[in-house]
Amino acid sequence: MRIDIVTIFPTFFDALDISLLGKAKSTGLIDLGVHDLRDYTHDRHRTVDDTPYGGGAGMVMKPEPWGEALDELVADGSDPLVIFPSPAGEVFTQATARALADEQHLVFGCGRYEGIDQRVFDEAADRARVKLVSMGDYVLNGGEVAVMAMIEAIGRLIPGVVGNPESLVEESHENGLLEYPSYTKPAEWRGRAVPPVLLSGNHGAIAAWRREQQLERTRRVRPDLLAD
Ligand code: SAM
Repeated sequence: MRIDIVTIFPTFFDALDISLLGKAKSTGLIDLGVHDLRDYTHDRHRTVDDTPYGGGAGMVMKPEPWGEALDELVADGSDPLVIFPSPAGEVFTQATARALADEQHLVFGCGRYEGIDQRVFDEAADRARVKLVSMGDYVLNGGEVAVMAMIEAIGRLIPGVVGNPESLVEESHENGLLEYPSYTKPAEWRGRAVPPVLLSGNHGAIAAWRREQQLERTRRVRPDLLAD
């Protein structure tokens, strides 16, 4: 998968060089390009923002640098999906991650300040598929953390990125439920014992216990998932 990111803070994405995604990059499963929005400016100060028309607090990201960045990244005929993180977008879920993991080319545009001039979204939508995606009902300072989270969730679903694909199957949100609690050795730690059923070797009983734990935890913590 090709992933391009446009940001005014390219070093944010240095963290993608470590762990599973770093390995996916080095083996070519993920081909990542990080682009500094300021490289598409032409003034001495490399300006990317200006005051909002109509007044109001804060600054708005100017359309010209975004236009040039997207001209470059959307013009290569690969039918990219352009994603702008935004608290005003559709909420990102595991289903979103699954759908995005099937794409060949994702372009992420990280907003800052009060956001990006609306005409950038409108113009991009004339030339490519565009999505506004929210990480949840709260406001971040910029889109970088949201894009990191999305790439981590999408990247681990790309075949080959996670060594054992079985480990993806029983996770929270894969079957509409939260995951059951996990334990490892030792069987007793600080007076706390591992539930005996997990030591029983009875696979049917273990599966039933895990399912019950998933239902109980989901009922208690996220009853909205069961309603869905
Ligand atoms: N004025 C905007 C609003 O009220 O919708 C918020 C702008 S926010 C300070 C700056 C940038 O952070 C946004 O353009 C977006 O890229 C990112 N951002 C903030 N909250 C986000 C969220 N919940 N999900 C995804 N991106 C978010």
